[in-house]
Amino acid sequence: MIKIFNSLAEINQLLKKHDDYRNNCLNLIASENYINPTVRKYLNSDLCGRYGCYEGLEGEDREYTGNKYIKEIESKTIELVKDIFKADYCDLRAIGGHIAGVASVLALTDPEDLIMEVILENWGHGLIEPMAATVRHFDRVFNVEPIPYQKNQTINTEKFMAEIRLKKPKLIILGSSGMLFPEGVAEIAAVAEEVGAYLIHDSSHISGLIAGGVFPNPLEEGADLMFCSTHKSFPGPQGGIILSNSKEIMQKVNKVMPTLVTSHHINRLPALAAAILEMKKYGEKYGRQIIKNSKALAEELSQKNFNVLAEDRGFTESHLLLMDVSEFGGSYKAARKLESSQILTSDDFGGPDKEIRIGTAEITRRGMKEKDMGEIADFFKRVLIAQEKEEEIINDLERYLNQFNDFSYCLKK
Ligand SMILES: *Cc1c(COP(=O)(O)O)cnc(C)c1O
Repeated sequence: MIKIFNSLAEINQLLKKHDDYRNNCLNLIASENYINPTVRKYLNSDLCGRYGCYEGLEGEDREYTGNKYIKEIESKTIELVKDIFKADYCDLRAIGGHIAGVASVLALTDPEDLIMEVILENWGHGLIEPMAATVRHFDRVFNVEPIPYQKNQTINTEKFMAEIRLKKPKLIILGSSGMLFPEGVAEIAAVAEEVGAYLIHDSSHISGLIAGGVFPNPLEEGADLMFCSTHKSFPGPQGGIILSNSKEIMQKVNKVMPTLVTSHHINRLPALAAAILEMKKYGEKYGRQIIKNSKALAEELSQKNFNVLAEDRGFTESHLLLMDVSEFGGSYKAARKLESSQILTSDDFGGPDKEIRIGTAEITRRGMKEKDMGEIADFFKRVLIAQEKEEEIINDLERYLNQFNDFSYCLKK
């Protein structure tokens, strides 16, 4: 049985253990990031106990009294978000990418409209289909079909465009948790427009690369709406964003949002603003180095005989790479084996159990460059191929990571 906390000291002790452990892990989880302590300290303010709920576009009419400065903080943060993502309208109330996605879908569809999304098998997030499969209410109103994929976990664009013309969906949700390359959004947007479908881009993973200007901005390519997390390749506090250039679309989102979130955790807003200032200064350099590191790590792993996807396309153009680990007992087993040596990757979360996902955002923030990727690949070899003892690997890994405690691309106070 778990003993309850009896004192603050016990809470502190466990948090300290967590910090030490994670600092000594090689974190290659593509959906996480290291948050600069300067940014993080903005989470700790009076705002963490306040309400900022509103109706009307971008927080015009506040429901609570006492919002004199809260309103200004939110408006200024919204302006920063619109500026860095080059959008005309923005909603910051979603407390994560998932709820931002759900709100967007509910805003833009009627019951039984056809929605096309990326399924789990292709590293889809599973925004709608798992909800429909789990919650009976949703099963009655959502009608979902998969976006066709091909090898290298990329969209089969030809087939997809033919299907859009044939099936005439009401809504298309592009974007996945395993996006290796830009996806030809403009081409798909044109066909979506032909049949009158809304095109949403789920940029949860790549929002940091978009903010840095090193990955195409889906809104500029013709997506009607983009939503994302603020804590994956984008190194901000956990949260969600919805963006669009269409006032009409954002008015619809705006109506739905207060039905899903009433306390929108406004303490994250100053931290998000600080993270955006950080990205305005360092985002491009940070983004370029992430992509270089992904390519270099993929190359090094491939040279060590690991089966990295998309060699024919240079492996990756994003913050992640995918590796088929079927020969090591599958995705789940390989990720757990790596975890026992303090190397954190992601299994495919209930997909076909073949590929693990390896992300480079956090190690880039830790200061690693292309030249360091050989060493990282060597740790994979020692765990999965040579099957060396965990203690020995952990010992060497901790010593190795100790060289990288000077985090880069961070605004100082
Ligand atoms: C992580 C993720 C989400 C969900 O975002 P949260 O911030 O975890 O709520 C949505 N879509 C994709 C593609 C993701 O990878």
